Amino acid sequence: MSGPATTKAKVVRTYRNFIGGEWVASESTKTSLNVNPADWRDVMGLVPASTVDETRRAVDAAKAAFPAWRETPAPVRGRILFNAWTLMEKEREDLARLLTREEGKTFKESLGEVMRTVNILEYIAAEGRRLGGDTVPSELPKNFCYTIRQPLGVVACITPWNFPVAIPCWKIAPALVSGNTVVFKPATLTPETAAAVVSIFERAGIPRGVLNMVLGSGSTVGNALLEHPDVRAVSFTGSNEVGAEIYGRGARRMIRVQCEMGGKNPVVVLADADLDLAVESTAQGAFGSTGQRCTATSRVIVEEAIADRFVEALVARASRVRVGDGLKEGVEMGPAVDEAQLETDLKYIGIGEAEGAKLLCGGLRLSGDAFDNGYFVEPTVFDGVKTSMRIAQEEIFGPVISVIRVKDFDEALEAANSVRYGLSSAIFTSDTTRVFRFIDGIEAGIVHVNSGTPGGEAQLPFGGTKDTGVGPREQGKGAAEFFTELKAVYVDYTGQSRKSSIY
Ligand code: NDP
Repeated sequence: MSGPATTKAKVVRTYRNFIGGEWVASESTKTSLNVNPADWRDVMGLVPASTVDETRRAVDAAKAAFPAWRETPAPVRGRILFNAWTLMEKEREDLARLLTREEGKTFKESLGEVMRTVNILEYIAAEGRRLGGDTVPSELPKNFCYTIRQPLGVVACITPWNFPVAIPCWKIAPALVSGNTVVFKPATLTPETAAAVVSIFERAGIPRGVLNMVLGSGSTVGNALLEHPDVRAVSFTGSNEVGAEIYGRGARRMIRVQCEMGGKNPVVVLADADLDLAVESTAQGAFGSTGQRCTATSRVIVEEAIADRFVEALVARASRVRVGDGLKEGVEMGPAVDEAQLETDLKYIGIGEAEGAKLLCGGLRLSGDAFDNGYFVEPTVFDGVKTSMRIAQEEIFGPVISVIRVKDFDEALEAANSVRYGLSSAIFTSDTTRVFRFIDGIEAGIVHVNSGTPGGEAQLPFGGTKDTGVGPREQGKGAAEFFTELKAVYVDYTGQSRKSSIY
């Protein structure tokens, strides 16, 4: 197999930055290839390695646009987001096709991501009419106390490649509706989808400079954003390694930082579960989006009494998953996003075998005509996994599932909580008592009962506990919290100086 570096391809264009309302070519001559991970001969474009100066220009544009945007009434800001909502829904199929071509997930999954984003835009746009503080009673007579929410200024949104439509929008939309201006730094692997998202906001009527996008590496563009004195907050989603660095640097500058990071999400299957449902949901959670979801199922913790039957059915299901180009009809699982992710998947499969876990199916890079020019790996199932093993502890971000056998519910809960992460979780059982004990005891930001670990709705908060997340939750009714300052207001209408005050 060759790789994209050896591909002689006709490169069609170099992507542009969006600064101050203009699509501008980067001044950098350094670029990287953007290829379709299902077939690297399909070269989509060149991604510029934009410079620190260009990043500063984007922040300057956002700063200049801030006063007018802050003064724009929130319902008017919301209306622009409603325009974006309408446009995205209308263009959903084209956007989904682009997303599949660039990131690799199947067309159906891409359409699902776009529609989830449409729902997020609808929900957040309406915040324009809801944003507000509280009116609270005073301990003093004739004293009117209330709070208002105000924007922070320029905020940076730094996003990963795996949900390149949804994640940027669930950051940008609440930032904008709250009156902030934004510099968006998308993942280098998904620049074209990022540009398509920005174009929707542009056509929706976002004023110049209110939303800016700079393409380029995390170390240059991301760093420049973190260091710029006019950036008042950073909303980041990505790996723990980068998140920890961003959080630390933001803290030193005393700015707000919100990080949503890795997961190692468990499904617990108890002996009284609907087995077919549990198997299908586990398979979809583990192999859907090629396992490249922060909410992917990577561990399934099964009560010993049904473990043999469960494993047999899971292996049969995994073996039936049709892998291929996500744009082809009937394909259920696309490629890894790039060579590096594919190597990570294969490396962890090797680690699992070396640790003594039983490889029951999968484990190999796929080869043959349909696969030789892409990054395809087989859906993989390990049995006999112990909680101490690295494959049970570390995020792989590939289609690899570890079966952990336990004797009862208590041991299942302990195993589920035995990792540093706490994003999503699921339990399959028909026992209500154990459902509620699981909801109480599971260390995760999201719990599903009798459905798989992925999935969520725009009106609920999204994010994790423990090492997965820091800062207020994204989405749901608290989405604007991170992007606003609360101001406490005391209006004294006694008309005279108070004789005494408690403070
Ligand atoms: P990375 O952490 O590698 O990158 C995320 C973003 O940060 C990219 O835009 C990247 O730029 C940028 N970046 C990299 N280095 C720096 C730096 N030093 N300073 C500032 N920015 C930087 O994550 P991935 O893109 O590989 O995404 C996969 C990860 O995201 C997984 O761990 C997954 O669990 C997590 N994730 C978490 C979610 C959640 O809500 N909890 C949701 C989705 C994904 P560049 O692309 O140029 O490297």
